[in-house]
Amino acid sequence: MMRSNSGLWQVEAVPAFQDNYLWVLHDGAQAVVVDPGDATAIATFLRARKLALRSILCTHHHADHIGGVADLQAQFGPVEVIGPEDARIPGRTQTALDGDVLTLAPGEFRVLAVPGHTLSHVAYCWRDRLFCGDTLFALGCGRMFEGTPEQLHGSLMRLANLPGEWWVHCAHEYTLSNLAFALAVDADNPALQQRGQQERARRQVGRATVPSLLSAERATNPFLRCTAPAVIAAAEDWAGSVLPSPVAVFAALRTWKNTF
Ligand code: ZN
Ligand code: FE
Repeated sequence: MMRSNSGLWQVEAVPAFQDNYLWVLHDGAQAVVVDPGDATAIATFLRARKLALRSILCTHHHADHIGGVADLQAQFGPVEVIGPEDARIPGRTQTALDGDVLTLAPGEFRVLAVPGHTLSHVAYCWRDRLFCGDTLFALGCGRMFEGTPEQLHGSLMRLANLPGEWWVHCAHEYTLSNLAFALAVDADNPALQQRGQQERARRQVGRATVPSLLSAERATNPFLRCTAPAVIAAAEDWAGSVLPSPVAVFAALRTWKNTF
């Protein structure tokens, strides 16, 4: 029997653990999952809607992103698992390399290599949506576990250059703690002040602050604003020295945030 919404793909966030969002794209019959860290949360969602799991996309190898892959493969049968070229991604059936265009049930996904949080981290673009794992967060960015400031800054600039009307589907609800840091760096930015009020109001009623618009990130996320005079001044103040490049500003902000 045909489902009335067949062919109309939508994206939903499945909350997991303390603050993760696992992303599910579905059309009422089939589903594609991004970063299924928790198999139970995904399996419950899929079974409640009678969705067939077609593909799993992984952005990077951390447990809160891949922890459910093997269990979902066991529960839902042969599911293609797409991820970066990294032995730490389990059960991978297809490798996602920079520039690849993957044709999956919901359409084409473009792969962007975004090293920095981890060395093999990738992001996926589908229509006007960016699934960026732990690279870019609402009002923040991921910790630099494996890469250099050059790499993570370069990856963030790459994402920042995507169209402003695209939606950023990051993997964690970190927005309010990121907001506190952003305000410490860029207190006089009116767009940030306004966004801060909006995000606090959302959290007060238990709503997610993601996805966010890329244009809003460009205007308010301090890690994307390493050439803004106010951000440079705050970073230099914290570092106690002149920071001669956007990468140096970025590196100072990232280190500052780690101890904020
Ligand atoms: Zn991670
Ligand atoms: Fe994570």
